[in-house]
Amino acid sequence: MKVVRTIAEARRELAPLRPGAFGLVPTMGALHDGHRSLLDAARAENKTVVMSLFVNPAQFGDASDLASYPQDDERDLAFAEGAGVDLVFTPSVDEMYPPGFQTWVDVTELGSILEGRFRPGHFRGVATVVLKLFEIVRPDRAYFGQKDAQQAEVIRRLIRDLALEIELRVLPIVRDPDGLALSSRNALLSPEERERAVSLPRALATKDADAARAALAASNGLAVDYIEVADFDPPVLAGAIRFGSTRLIDNVPLDKGSDPTGLTPSQEGDPV
Ligand code: AMP
Repeated sequence: MKVVRTIAEARRELAPLRPGAFGLVPTMGALHDGHRSLLDAARAENKTVVMSLFVNPAQFGDASDLASYPQDDERDLAFAEGAGVDLVFTPSVDEMYPPGFQTWVDVTELGSILEGRFRPGHFRGVATVVLKLFEIVRPDRAYFGQKDAQQAEVIRRLIRDLALEIELRVLPIVRDPDGLALSSRNALLSPEERERAVSLPRALATKDADAARAALAASNGLAVDYIEVADFDPPVLAGAIRFGSTRLIDNVPLDKGSDPTGLTPSQEGDPV
């Protein structure tokens, strides 16, 4: 596995590997089994798998959120190697945002609802860095998690609007056995908060915004940013909660059929 830190090196290493399908998995590190499922899909579907490892400051509104984001490059590189990644691109902030940087990509409407209301500028940071990664790696397929349903929708819009020749692959949410979606931020929860965090997937499993809000209102010590139905592909019930400064997001698809959280209160008699 090659590890490169500059755009020039990434291009130099990747050029001889063309033609042949390239899969790109963008990450911010602190890798877990959610990332692993994207890497596995990329490995199965492409000749070359590229993972980016970059904690993108432009998508953090809050300096303390950025400072507390878990980082362990050595562990992440071993994890990537174990998943069969061919090349890791892990640039410095200056490499991605050279002095004088002022060119931004803004998916205006989709980027301003839900998460965008609570994290202004977040999706502008996401769309900009993802477009830049696309241009550096020039993947045939790009892998994202349904965990960040709005992010996937923003990238889908970006690909359509700018006519990018990239297939978007969105993989299902990987959860802990109790239903909590895996997230790098789970590491920031106290043991007690971790136990109570499962109230988010449990509430969303009702697939009903009012019922989910009511369920969460009964939980002390957590704040609800939003619980909303989002008309994405697929439509989802999405939610965000906070324990102190730690923010967790999750969503469940609203199409009929199985419940990926395994937490639906009563599945008996559900129409199929
Ligand atoms: P991040 O490193 O948090 O930016 O995540 C990198 C990619 O992994 C994003 O496309 C996320 O949606 C995806 N991801 C994060 N957590 C999960 C999860 N629990 N299941 C599936 N995909 C995930």
